[in-house]
Amino acid sequence: MNGLPVLPEPRTSPGVRSLVTVISGPTAVGKGTVVGRLRQLHPDVFVSVSVTTRQPRPGELDGVHYWFIDDAEFDRLIVDNGLLEWAVVHGRHRYGTPRRPVEDAVAAGRPVVLEIDLQGARQVRSTLPHAQFVFLTPPSWDELVHRLVGRGTESPEQQARRLQTARAELVAAQEFDHVVVNREVDRTVDELVSLLGL
Ligand code: 5GP
Repeated sequence: MNGLPVLPEPRTSPGVRSLVTVISGPTAVGKGTVVGRLRQLHPDVFVSVSVTTRQPRPGELDGVHYWFIDDAEFDRLIVDNGLLEWAVVHGRHRYGTPRRPVEDAVAAGRPVVLEIDLQGARQVRSTLPHAQFVFLTPPSWDELVHRLVGRGTESPEQQARRLQTARAELVAAQEFDHVVVNREVDRTVDELVSLLGL
């Protein structure tokens, strides 16, 4: 021992960037807004569109924000091995990443972004170990509550459930390769652009 700290081995060599970036973080932290802005600025990035069994919110479009499907269709996708990962989120609805579009984008050499929850991120960690994992975190707990209540898209019961999940998810930030504090959308997007090597 020479007293120097032992650093963990980097998972990818310097200069070799991961094609797949997983972005996760608690409810209402602003993942959707940040990823939407990233997509506008860099249309070359493939942003996966998830399937979900939840109902669309006002303004959400099928095939743009999600593919809105029913339970039977979701079951079929699981059986056909059509999902890269999937999870029941907030104890309620199922969400999953269609496998084929991601594989096609990787094969075409496009950077890929998956915006998924913690359970999904953990699955991708084992199926795509060379992916990089980014956790978006709010500046403070109060700010997270403020953003969730302020967007007004969930009932008080749903808000309570989402905040309960959020508490557990914040603890898991340490499992990620990078933690980015989402104070201001443009700054967060700049940080992501640099992490994606764009
Ligand atoms: P929301 O209902 O607010 O659109 O999303 C709820 C949660 O589901 C968010 O944390 C979001 O990251 C997560 N989510 C969205 N798509 C997927 C997916 O394909 N897989 C997993 N595991 N989580 C997802």
